[in-house]
Amino acid sequence: MGRIPMAENVLILGTGCAGLTAAIYAARAGLSPLVLEGGQPGGQLTTTSEVENFPGFTHGVDGNELIGSMKGQAERFGARFAWDRIASVDFSGPVKKLVGGEATYEAKAVIIATGASPRLLGIPGEKEYYGGNGVTTCATCDGAFYRDVPVAVVGGGDSACEEALFLTRFASRVLLVHRRETFRASDIMVQRVKSHPKIELVLNVSPVAVLGDAKVHTLRVADRSGAERDLAVKCVFVAIGHVPNSGPFTPALEVDDNGYFVAGPNTVSTRVPGVFVAGDCSDHVYRQAITAAGMGCRAAIEAERWLAGH
Ligand code: NAP
Repeated sequence: MGRIPMAENVLILGTGCAGLTAAIYAARAGLSPLVLEGGQPGGQLTTTSEVENFPGFTHGVDGNELIGSMKGQAERFGARFAWDRIASVDFSGPVKKLVGGEATYEAKAVIIATGASPRLLGIPGEKEYYGGNGVTTCATCDGAFYRDVPVAVVGGGDSACEEALFLTRFASRVLLVHRRETFRASDIMVQRVKSHPKIELVLNVSPVAVLGDAKVHTLRVADRSGAERDLAVKCVFVAIGHVPNSGPFTPALEVDDNGYFVAGPNTVSTRVPGVFVAGDCSDHVYRQAITAAGMGCRAAIEAERWLAGH
């Protein structure tokens, strides 16, 4: 293949742990990657408070601080950053073409680390009140608006437990609403939640509607028999998992039934040579900051090898 003058060596999509780690490795390999920050610059860690399980921080680290350091590290080695969201791709030729809202990009290698977006409940009232009126997916962003009032957190995973604990700083009471008796969250988080005096567990019910006037005043839930009851809360924090951001890249790339990218045995190669995936857009098993970072590292090394071979 001849030299391609205008194409980027490596285009990296996403600036969460996966994208930024890929950027550090690709930049340090002298590839001068262009990194696109998408809908949520910094990824999910920017919506979390304290990260306690990223190795190297004895007493934990603030999510934004960690992401800021990773970005600075990538910039130090020559990574370039721009903002755009990719709407469609053409991966049929040797040069990959990606169409964004701001520009069209050409790259010899692409690393997709677009992460995952919060899943919503899909119940009446949720969309209507989403944002500033009493339904949100980010306690770190919106928790401080709900001081001395009761709030609900929906979900039974680590995210829901973390959100509930964080919200105890502001809310008068936190109702943790989960559809089962047992939690998906890790034991340490469940123990913290159960022993917190401000948190009340509301188990074996599912939310069926969010009700309010100008703002939310009630979360209606139903048990398995269908019997409904109303919880008086001023905000509903939805923490029921995430949906991978893979839409614009299908059908060019293969995804599974839940929309996660399907990768080869090295976890980052796709069926398109030169296109790699990393982080929560392709990992439905581990979904940790450190595993996303590890995948970003692998993707950059694979991209570097692929470029060297072409
Ligand atoms: P998750 O583990 O997939 O848990 C989602 C929870 O939402 C589950 O309890 C699920 O209930 C519930 N749920 C899903 N759909 C629902 C619906 N329609 N209505 C009601 N409830 C619903 O997601 P996550 O908590 O966001 O965690 C994702 C990953 O990030 C995990 O691997 C987690 O360990 C990691 N994480 C780690 C930390 C930490 O280590 N500090 C913090 C946050 C997240 P069921 O249990 O009944 O399915």
